[in-house]
Amino acid sequence: MSKSALSANEMLFFSWRSLLTADDSHEYYPVTFKLPSAALGIRVTVRYSGDGNYLGLCLYEKNRFRAHGRMEKKNGFVELKAEVWAKKNIPGAITGPLSAGTWQAEIMTNKVKQDCPVELFVDVWWGGSNGEQPPIPPRPEKISTAPGWYRGDLHVHSTESDGKKSVAELFEIAAEQGMHFLALTDHNNICNWWKFPSRTQGILPLPSMEITTFLGHANAFGIRDWVDWRVGKDGRTINEVIDEVHEKGGLFSINHPCTPGLPDDHASWRHKNLEWHKVDGLEVWNAPVFSRGEGANRQCRKLWDRLLNQGLRITGLGGSDAHYLDQSVQPMGLPTNYVYLHELSREGLLEGIKNGHVFVTRGPEIHFYAFGKNNYTLPGGEIKSNGKVRLYAGIQTHGLASLILRFIKNGKVVAEMPVSEDKRSYNLEDTCRAGDWYRIELEENGAGGYRLAAFTNPIYIKAD
Ligand SMILES: [Zn+2]
Ligand SMILES: [Zn+2]
Repeated sequence: MSKSALSANEMLFFSWRSLLTADDSHEYYPVTFKLPSAALGIRVTVRYSGDGNYLGLCLYEKNRFRAHGRMEKKNGFVELKAEVWAKKNIPGAITGPLSAGTWQAEIMTNKVKQDCPVELFVDVWWGGSNGEQPPIPPRPEKISTAPGWYRGDLHVHSTESDGKKSVAELFEIAAEQGMHFLALTDHNNICNWWKFPSRTQGILPLPSMEITTFLGHANAFGIRDWVDWRVGKDGRTINEVIDEVHEKGGLFSINHPCTPGLPDDHASWRHKNLEWHKVDGLEVWNAPVFSRGEGANRQCRKLWDRLLNQGLRITGLGGSDAHYLDQSVQPMGLPTNYVYLHELSREGLLEGIKNGHVFVTRGPEIHFYAFGKNNYTLPGGEIKSNGKVRLYAGIQTHGLASLILRFIKNGKVVAEMPVSEDKRSYNLEDTCRAGDWYRIELEENGAGGYRLAAFTNPIYIKAD
């Protein structure tokens, strides 16, 4: 389809029809319309044939993101609705004045498998007044000044994208689970920031979003504003997106890089021209549901080891990727990240993640230290060594049995030992040289084979 077919015409407010073909995958089709005066509400509806086709929709006011299309399936076709109001709160939208002027409904073609008739309608409720998008409301930036290990989930979806729980409900669940921080990572939108409960029950909300491109997903943690995630639009590259995340004060962490399945394999990471040195984190452990069990996560750990062996210091993270109501299918907090922080604040959390002071677990606590020549460190740190290192693992199993502890050096297992309930500490002495790194893993040896129970970030050896 040629993009010139998309210019605005008369308003019905406004309707538009076209036919997408298999050549139209991974494209952006902006449909521009003009509001002659301010509006109370705008609803954009896109209807298309669902047969293997998979489209997305966003609504922009000038260049500001305003609403995210929500999907509904109806007898053979799919409807996407992006709706925003001046005064009424709608999930997936930023409530506030809807000004006269240029608006853009943009269709994203995640996958066009076969000829796909598309219709787009814009309904407008007139009234309201012109004005700016409301500012991002203030939220707690600092909860505690005490240093220590803090825990939380870094990958959760709310009703603002395709999750089934509201922002308030997710904070309640996090509080019940004893979490200290929570990153809600809705797909390509930051609407949940306007919906943080005024009292977050002592939980630090980390403003984030899941950058969801045609070639893979990544979390932007701690950003101060929406990030233009549209790789491929007007030649934009993934590296430029990462630069924008950093300019907006955030960290960039690739999600479920090895996860197959889902339409068109769309969850796995396929950006070829990525500059890896820009990447801060890697979701080494994604929800058991999306990762189809252990295989994809095992591959992720291999990918991570290869990157670490290239000298990259990318923090390994975990995320539940929780979407659903059914807590037994995809519970929040599985796995959980423990991060060592100098204080529980937005800045402290970003620094702890960036520095790799992290272990990830579905229960057991693993406190990993390395001792070199008159110095020691925790995961993410480095030690000076004159050729010898002593590694220490302090383990609390929290009821998980049949655990195996593995010491991993430069990606290879160098020691393996069973963990017993009544023994807390495990040691290993090794010879080493500058450039080596060590990390540890716990696996549960259960009926279905080995299953990851916890892992730490690496400790790096530098020259004396
Ligand atoms: Zn994802
Ligand atoms: Zn996700």
